[in-house]
Amino acid sequence: MPELPEVQTVVDDLNRKIKNRKITGVWTDARKIVRGSFPDFRKSVIGRKILRVERRAKNILIYFDSGKLMLTHLKMTGHYLVGRWDLRKPKPTPVSDGRLSEKVNAYIHVVFVLDDGRMLALSDLRKFAKIMFGDVDDICASLKDLGPEATEISFKDFDRLLEKSRKPIKKLLMDQNLIAGIGNIYSDEILFDAKIHPLSLASSLNPERRKRLYRSIKKILKKALELRGTSVSDFRDTSGVEGDYGLRRLVYRREGKLCPGKCPGKVKRIKIGGRSSYFCSDCQKL
Ligand SMILES: [Zn+2]
Repeated sequence: MPELPEVQTVVDDLNRKIKNRKITGVWTDARKIVRGSFPDFRKSVIGRKILRVERRAKNILIYFDSGKLMLTHLKMTGHYLVGRWDLRKPKPTPVSDGRLSEKVNAYIHVVFVLDDGRMLALSDLRKFAKIMFGDVDDICASLKDLGPEATEISFKDFDRLLEKSRKPIKKLLMDQNLIAGIGNIYSDEILFDAKIHPLSLASSLNPERRKRLYRSIKKILKKALELRGTSVSDFRDTSGVEGDYGLRRLVYRREGKLCPGKCPGKVKRIKIGGRSSYFCSDCQKL
């Protein structure tokens, strides 16, 4: 699932590519991706200008000149792509952009036609992605339980979160209502960087480890943003290009590989709350 660096990469791309464009048409073969009535949605969006695109946690927020807001959650396999497709074919067929791989192109289910002839397309293999549309206040109300952004939280607030929690630290980092934007990939990367075992109880971390963890959150997310995300699963940017963080990653999905730290151990995998967690038991202590 795309996490903060991947979603931010998409949001930055969209601000560069589609800001101030007007929507002139909407096509879909999977109405259930859009919550509510699709004809009403189409009517509300057509003719409207895109003012800006923002991110909140793992959600993409597109603001329109009508005062309405469109929220997209990409879930497991969603991608936003900007390009041109021939919509007269049985499946949208790309026009003249060879970089868009079959992997994303074959699963386009929603297309917004823009006033300059380009299109914003949502590709989603598993069709779990979700689009919500409505008044800004209503859509924002649906986000009210989210915790502070991982890139913005202060040490004081983070420290308070740890103090109050009896969860394993890996679970705390992935809980969007406590701290927003981190998922399975970056929680593993952050914990390795901070040399903390994923099962360590949050409130049991001493002050020095808390500070180290806080610094690792900022450091790893910054690096992943600079490298435009991780494509170890199937993330692509809006041109269909992979992110580079996966090539530099430390432990995520590296089970059995040599520890990237200065130890002779190997990366191990355990299950925490049904999710795999990759770590080095020599470098990361409970
Ligand atoms: Zn190690």
